[in-house]
Amino acid sequence: KNYSKEDILKQAEELGVEFIHLQFTDILGVMKNVSITIEELEKALDNEIMFDGSSIEGFVRIEESDMYLRPDLSTFTVFPWSGPVKEARLVCDVYRPDGTPFDGCPRNALKKVLKEAEEMGFIMNVGPECEFFLFNTNEKGEPTLETHDNAGYFDLAPVDLGGNARIDMVATLKQMGFNIEASHHEVAEGQHEIDFQYADALKTADNIMTFKMVVRIIAQRHGLHATFMPKPKFGINGSGMHVNMSLATLDGKNAFYDESDPLKFSETAYYYLGGVLKHAKAFAALTNPTVNSYKRLVPGYEAPVLIAWSASNRSPLIRIPAKRGSSTRIELRNPDPSANPYLALAAILKAGLDGIKNKMTPPPAVNSNVYHMSEEEMKEKGIVGLPGNLYEAVEELQKDEVIKEALGTHLFEKFTDAALVEWKEYASYVTQWELDRYLRKF
Ligand code: GLN
Ligand code: MG
Ligand code: MG
Ligand code: MG
Repeated sequence: KNYSKEDILKQAEELGVEFIHLQFTDILGVMKNVSITIEELEKALDNEIMFDGSSIEGFVRIEESDMYLRPDLSTFTVFPWSGPVKEARLVCDVYRPDGTPFDGCPRNALKKVLKEAEEMGFIMNVGPECEFFLFNTNEKGEPTLETHDNAGYFDLAPVDLGGNARIDMVATLKQMGFNIEASHHEVAEGQHEIDFQYADALKTADNIMTFKMVVRIIAQRHGLHATFMPKPKFGINGSGMHVNMSLATLDGKNAFYDESDPLKFSETAYYYLGGVLKHAKAFAALTNPTVNSYKRLVPGYEAPVLIAWSASNRSPLIRIPAKRGSSTRIELRNPDPSANPYLALAAILKAGLDGIKNKMTPPPAVNSNVYHMSEEEMKEKGIVGLPGNLYEAVEELQKDEVIKEALGTHLFEKFTDAALVEWKEYASYVTQWELDRYLRKF
């Protein structure tokens, strides 16, 4: 729906809203807030709310720190959990004082690639599958790695804190306008998944940010800690964020569907797939941005390792779900929920568009379990792996001009700087694994 400024003012008043959180996302994918009172809402809707960008990760230097927030009126949402003091939020774009979009704002970066797609005649639709763990908290309220639930994939556990929390999460999300398609226990103990309906990429990126916030808040109210960390525990499945996506034409038809093809896949779909496969190494830094992300991308835990696609098997990077017609789509399986959704989707779309522009035919499908593929077979078929760690991923990103362009110079530099700082610290850190291994041995 397209709200006007007057609509928002009226709604806020009718609903008794007293606090409005102006939300935006920093480069690392962390949601930030500037909170205002209802008296200042009109000023906010006139794009006059300023904040100091110099203290936000990946933003700007002190000398040029004044930034303006421009609320996206379609994102006005009341927080159903807010108490006597009613709170609402507006998702914002970050602008410079001269009225131009700030190029360090991830939402602006996604919008730019979406505009490029639109100029080519396409709208990107995305449906994510966010997985997360619910852990118990200790007496001090700090997160532990313990869970009381012993349920597994799709299990219904009788009296289960996590299950109750999940029902509450779904109910809250519904009140905020989400259409929840599925919610279930995942494979690992304490692991859950909630799937909401696909939407255009910008709305979905906003939804992912909102979703993570809601899941954390509701978990906390149930005495639990929700984490979107990709691999919290060694030896069991990690948490992914599968990205189901397709392109639609500007008049709303699924551009990936073609009745006449054996797989019912259009030429556009094949080229898009080709582009995504070609740039997968480089966008991994964005879809899997933490040191921990790469501990999920190992064989045996339903997460992808090799850059290949399949119409049936779930071990490669890309799977083609069985649904056709208007639901024709590809499922990219490497992204994890620690990703900044704006940057991840911008990079993935840019890769697909490059495939369309340059007519990149994908290699043949691989319909076997690639976890068991030998080095020889990989060589023979020309299949390569995803980056093995964050450092390799950043190196791949640095080599890929197309994905760099999706970010723009400012975001690219800030992002790689931050990732390399993180990598260096991690690489020199002495871990428990090393102590267990070497302390007595040497
Ligand atoms: N948790 C798995 C991953 O890391 C996915 C499991 C599933 O959805 N079947 O991607
Ligand atoms: Mg799923
Ligand atoms: Mg899942
Ligand atoms: Mg899936």
